[in-house]
Amino acid sequence: MTEDPRDQILAFGTATSEGPAKDPSLDAWRELPIRQAPQWSDEAEHRAALAELAQVPPLVFAGEVDVLRMRLAEVARGEAFLLQGGDCAETFAGSTANRISARVKTILQMAAVLTYGASTPVVKMGRIAGQYAKPRSSDTETRDGVTLPSFRGEIVNGFEFTPEARRHDARRMVRAYHTAASTLNLVRAFTQGGFADLRSVHAWNKGFMENPAYAQYEETAAEIDRAVRFMDAAGVDFEAMRRTEFYSAHEALLLEYERALTRTDSRTGDPYATSAHFLWIGERTREVDGAHVDFLSRVRNPIGVKLGPSATAVDALALAEKLDPNREPGRLTFITRMGAERIRDVLPSIVEGVRDAGLTPVWVTDPMHGNTVTAENGYKTRRFDDVMDEVRGFFEVHRALGTHPGGMHVELTGDDVAECLGGAEHVLEADFNERYETLCDPRLNHQQSLEMAFAVTEALAHPGGR
Ligand code: PEP
Ligand code: MN
Repeated sequence: MTEDPRDQILAFGTATSEGPAKDPSLDAWRELPIRQAPQWSDEAEHRAALAELAQVPPLVFAGEVDVLRMRLAEVARGEAFLLQGGDCAETFAGSTANRISARVKTILQMAAVLTYGASTPVVKMGRIAGQYAKPRSSDTETRDGVTLPSFRGEIVNGFEFTPEARRHDARRMVRAYHTAASTLNLVRAFTQGGFADLRSVHAWNKGFMENPAYAQYEETAAEIDRAVRFMDAAGVDFEAMRRTEFYSAHEALLLEYERALTRTDSRTGDPYATSAHFLWIGERTREVDGAHVDFLSRVRNPIGVKLGPSATAVDALALAEKLDPNREPGRLTFITRMGAERIRDVLPSIVEGVRDAGLTPVWVTDPMHGNTVTAENGYKTRRFDDVMDEVRGFFEVHRALGTHPGGMHVELTGDDVAECLGGAEHVLEADFNERYETLCDPRLNHQQSLEMAFAVTEALAHPGGR
């Protein structure tokens, strides 16, 4: 193997099979109950789309996926912190240079602050370049007496409330692949081309702090500023830090799409899902005998599973047995989304049961999905204070049990939207009429995301408060 990591990536890239992995066990899920599966409207289009996806190049390479697994093993041991962030539902029209760069920039800015708070490296990961499929609680939606199929994310159908848009159109899977490819291309360019330079990220954060709304975080910002100046004075090589690893992730909901993009690594003969580095299984598709768990148990990527308030330690252990029978460091991440009101009651027994069985998964908090409420004016929203309360509860539970609070999973955007209530700039329900853009769940806007990073950093650096 050559020394230059870029050469290694190329070598790894060309090492995956041309065409889909052949192992028949990768199709065992087809015999199991498949939740949330689309009903494609045209069988010929469906076959053609899958045949095309079976031949396209991989979006990510096996070697990168292996490095991520190592990074996540560090997170599980408490030697690094994981930040996952991005849209609830990415859209094709929203996959523009400006919007992608705003999201990446937001994650890099949060990561710089959290690196200080956690005093460890931060593994950066986007809900990006593939987050196009949404699970729904109902198959249909009714408006003014008209019933149509629910919107399932742009990889399946369109948001517009017309029969044509809501038809399950398999050609969208091909468009999703190409949109993911162009998105990831930009993400790679930004994070490898100097955009991640700590000095500029730090300068952006100073710009954010100029707003008097954030005066309460001034001390922390000043501490970070001193730390960066100290690094400079001590001769840290900032040039070497102009690049950063940045990983892609999405919910692996549409199994046909994931299966078509699975390739064999010719170094080892192992199958890798090449649609993203990290895939997770959602709260609605995580039954241990279901199709999603079966398929993901067979690929080498690190896998996440969402655990909602009804989950038990027994469920978590059964999932671990199936998805990570060899207890491989970094393989399994549990993303808990309990709701601020319940996390302190329901999380301890799960974490305790898993800890006592000798497992060390990565524990991540998703403080968004258990805190969704309907605003008076009908919009789906979340309160910034509830989100922060769940994050604090997560840290409290892990601290009490001696386990590692490994990271955060956040729905966010780099734009100035108004979808979640509160924060130091006091987003109000009245703002929704003008600046509510999400096609699915409400996201923290750019400012709320940075504020969260500062608030979490304060909680980590000063656990008992200042
Ligand atoms: C999501 O992450 O957008 C989602 C649907 O989450 P969950 O599976 O936790 O409900
Ligand atoms: Mn969501």
